Amino acid sequence: MDTQVLIVGAGPVGLTLAIDLGRRGVRCILLEQKEAPQFLPKMERCNARTMEIYRRMGIAQKIRDAGFPRDVPMDVFIITSLIEPPLLQLPYPSVAQAQAEIAACNDGTMPLEPYQLISQYTLEPLLKSVAESNPNIDVRYGCEYLACEQDSGGVRARIKNSDGSTSLLQADYLVGCDGGSSLVRRQLGIKLQGEANLLQLRQALYRCDDLFDRIPIGKGRHYHVADAHSTFLIVQDSTRHFTLHSVVDSDDDMKTMFEQVVAMPVQYEMLYVGQWKQNLLLADSYAHNRVFLAGDAVHLVIPTGGLGMNSGVGDAVDLSWKLAATLQGWGGPGLLASYEIDRRQIGARNVDASRHASRGRRAWRAAYRPNIRDQTPEGAETRANLTRIADVEQRKSNEMIGAELGYRYIASPVIWPEAGDAPEPDFMKYVPTTWPGARLPHVWLADGTALHDRIGDGYTLLRLAGTQADATPLEQAFAAYGAPFAALDIDEERLRELYGHDLLLLRPDLHVVWRGNRLPDDALKLAAIATGH
Ligand SMILES: Cc1cc2nc3c(=O)[nH]c(=O)nc-3n(C[C@H](O)[C@H](O)[C@H](O)COP(=O)(O)OP(=O)(O)OC[C@H]3O[C@@H](n4cnc5c(N)ncnc54)[C@H](O)[C@@H]3O)c2cc1C
Repeated sequence: MDTQVLIVGAGPVGLTLAIDLGRRGVRCILLEQKEAPQFLPKMERCNARTMEIYRRMGIAQKIRDAGFPRDVPMDVFIITSLIEPPLLQLPYPSVAQAQAEIAACNDGTMPLEPYQLISQYTLEPLLKSVAESNPNIDVRYGCEYLACEQDSGGVRARIKNSDGSTSLLQADYLVGCDGGSSLVRRQLGIKLQGEANLLQLRQALYRCDDLFDRIPIGKGRHYHVADAHSTFLIVQDSTRHFTLHSVVDSDDDMKTMFEQVVAMPVQYEMLYVGQWKQNLLLADSYAHNRVFLAGDAVHLVIPTGGLGMNSGVGDAVDLSWKLAATLQGWGGPGLLASYEIDRRQIGARNVDASRHASRGRRAWRAAYRPNIRDQTPEGAETRANLTRIADVEQRKSNEMIGAELGYRYIASPVIWPEAGDAPEPDFMKYVPTTWPGARLPHVWLADGTALHDRIGDGYTLLRLAGTQADATPLEQAFAAYGAPFAALDIDEERLRELYGHDLLLLRPDLHVVWRGNRLPDDALKLAAIATGH
């Protein structure tokens, strides 16, 4: 074998997968057809869950240091232009404020890490340099994946190297992180289902050094323009770069539109114009035998709700520990098979969440009338009506904390099937729960450390509030599979109350496998389920 895992595509998802595999000791080759990361605008917000994941990978601070200034608010505006009083200003805390709120909160309702605005063109080179610093990861830009075949022993991929030659690479597994038009997915015959090409917009990137300081109506990250063109302006991480999205007829119109929205004389340069389409699509399947798919290759959402790359990062870490477990010999045959079951339901849920958010935006935009600027009773009525609708509907794009933190792996074969009525996940609300399948709610311990930070990369049995429960049978059961296991005692009554049980078994990704007040009689069965045997 040339490597254990061959990853196609060094977008944020392929890079995240490579870094997580590398830190788990798995050798991988990461192929990227581009010569280098490109300076093109796409995503700009890592959500709270993604930042928790990056914290576990040891790179959250690096990402914050490269991202949007920590003391600038993340407000979202509905405007007619950048110099007129906003129709609506939805306040969202800066990273510094959000971190202070998180530090002061200990009821499990908040994430350990807040969001971070960082432009994809900043994030990708950063992740690339992290990947290149790990000797387990062979990062190859300028290399195109062409085709592959697989059998029970492995995968053979034909690739075109940077010098134009072609060669074969053999790997135990292949993962297609090759984006929305994924060749790997198409070669597997897997189709995308849903709504394609809902709206086509132009997007342009501008450099304008003094604009951000001069915005008189308040600092934020998104400025949605109440117009007939679905226009919105996004502040990029440097605060010197901006993107504008708009439905206009020509590339040149993107200059006129920018000047119209800015409405002040500014020096600027338009660096790029391109077109993109809004889609709500989900793949029929996420894998075929030894070939897996992750990220935009299997789900395409409308990005304003911020669930595109963030869903893909979730795929990457779920697949990473399952691949590592299988390659290290302790993952059973059901573990890799659970990747599709666990993650495809989240893909479907996030496509729904994105639809919910985009319908919200369409609802307030439908209240636009050409008289919106008129100083007449009719103009005032248009402004009042649009603002009233936007105050409810625009929040759907910006406040999906339930979709970000509250997802739970339902009916997963590697999660203990607890009897009873499970809580219904809600896109807009995060209600902490330890119901099996859910992410362990974040809490601070009495010594000020975060419980998440105390939990290692294997399975963990949390023993709370001085329980005398003996972990030995479970320890022996995991040992029988050669799976990494540790018991962690936290003698804090408050945690017991919040988590509702004396004992919780966690998987390497901090999702709850099982909970109870005493271990099941058949500890081997619990370990077998958790490890996919
Ligand atoms: C305007 C806009 C704003 C967005 N905002 C957000 C946001 O705020 N938050 C968010 O979460 N998401 C956002 N997204 C979505 C986000 O950009 C994507 O979800 C994300 O890029 C997906 O990452 P990926 O790694 O799966 O795929 P991609 O980023 O598409 O990367 C795929 C990579 O594979 C490479 N590749 C393809 N084929 C081959 C081949 N045959 N051989 C080798 N390499 C290959 C490509 O060159 C590419 O580098 C936004 C998208 C757009 C368009």
